[in-house]
Amino acid sequence: MNLADTEVVLSILTQAGFSQTNNLRTADVVFVNTCAVRENAEQRIFGRLGDFKRYKKENPGMLIGVLGCMAERLRKDLMESESHVDLVVGPDEYRRLPELIEGALTGQRGIAVRLSRVENYDDILPLRTDGISAWISVMRGCDKFCTFCVVPFTRGRERSRSLDSIVREVEHLAARGFKEVTLLGQNVNSYNDGTNDFADLMAAAAQVDTTMRIRFTTSHPQDMSDKLVRTIAENENICKYIHLPVQSGSDRILELMNRSYTSEHYLSLVNKIRASIPEVSLSTDIIAGFPTETDDDHRQTLDMIRHVGYDGAFTFKYSPRENTKSWHMGDDVTEEVKLERLNQIIDLQREISLKKNHETVGQVVEILVEGESTKSPNDFCGRTDTNKMVVFPRGSAEIGQYLTVRIERANSATLFGTILGASRRLADDSRLAANA
Ligand code: SAH
Ligand code: SF4
Repeated sequence: MNLADTEVVLSILTQAGFSQTNNLRTADVVFVNTCAVRENAEQRIFGRLGDFKRYKKENPGMLIGVLGCMAERLRKDLMESESHVDLVVGPDEYRRLPELIEGALTGQRGIAVRLSRVENYDDILPLRTDGISAWISVMRGCDKFCTFCVVPFTRGRERSRSLDSIVREVEHLAARGFKEVTLLGQNVNSYNDGTNDFADLMAAAAQVDTTMRIRFTTSHPQDMSDKLVRTIAENENICKYIHLPVQSGSDRILELMNRSYTSEHYLSLVNKIRASIPEVSLSTDIIAGFPTETDDDHRQTLDMIRHVGYDGAFTFKYSPRENTKSWHMGDDVTEEVKLERLNQIIDLQREISLKKNHETVGQVVEILVEGESTKSPNDFCGRTDTNKMVVFPRGSAEIGQYLTVRIERANSATLFGTILGASRRLADDSRLAANA
């Protein structure tokens, strides 16, 4: 989401006459876009700000700005404790950046952190470098108020962009040769532009160019509609991959988290999804060590992971965030216990991922070629529709191509295969659409 926001900022600044540089030492303005979800994300930013201070000593005219959720959360603190920071700008105030930079050039340090009920940057075409994959923010903010989460405070109330402008952006990306678009929102199931819901938006995005893959994130389990599940099942170019954060397997903890579903409801949703989309892959987010979490609660989380059999999981140690409801519940699970539980979750998930990945050995899958593998320039990598990374000898493959690949071996994170040929699946579809 921050990468998508950064592309909005780049667009605003380019319009105002700025251009991008890769040279941090000689830059006139340096912005860091920040996340406040967990404390370690914030600590890393303080580390970065320390580096910037050194650059500013060498280049005293340099302006330094903090953007995003930390700007919103820490506001004055940042201005007071980080004297080399000239600008602090929250996620709804990016249109004011050119004016704030002007002011800072004349020595006025600027703070702009007002949250908006309407700002969604609907009219701003994000500045993206060419590639095959792009993100589109379709909504901003969150109204869920999970008790551990700072997002509703740093990003404000939910608001959706119009379906038309999003579809125009997908058209624009298709014309530039992008092959994959991920629609982004903190809780995309709440998308509503007054006329259309998220399923309508997905269907419209999928129809722009049927050779283009459509992905989305994140779905809150509470209001994932049957209509959305049907839409994913019915559209061949909507990827069969759903990120469905469960957070905990214990109903007591889920209630304390204000997640508004029970483990039973979550499991019935998983069953429903799998009944409609048998090949679907599922991933999740899990928090270890929420306040008052007992060994028994933790065991129920492990049971949930086993029961669902996720393809992947993003796992976090609980990090208390000031002003959230859970902040007032204390932080009674010790660091040691949090780490032990986190490691058990990671180990279990690794075991499951390995087993699932081994099951793909011998299968022929379709991938979209993304680029060189990080390990060897002789290998390319690409993702399956189900979001699994496949590495293969590059041969004459080209970035942005759909290929069929036979899986030869696998570990818990990656599949390894060999190319069989070009895949015609999505391409054939587009011909059908063109003929229709
Ligand atoms: N809107 C998304 C999540 C945004 S934050 C959703 O609801 O799925 C991404 C993940 O960070 C969350 O799913 C949660 O697992 C984790 N997270 C959020 N606040 C946290 C906290 N205070 N401590 C630890 N993990 C947290
Ligand atoms: Fe945070 Fe919950 Fe909103 Fe996700 S749904 S952003 S976890 S409040």
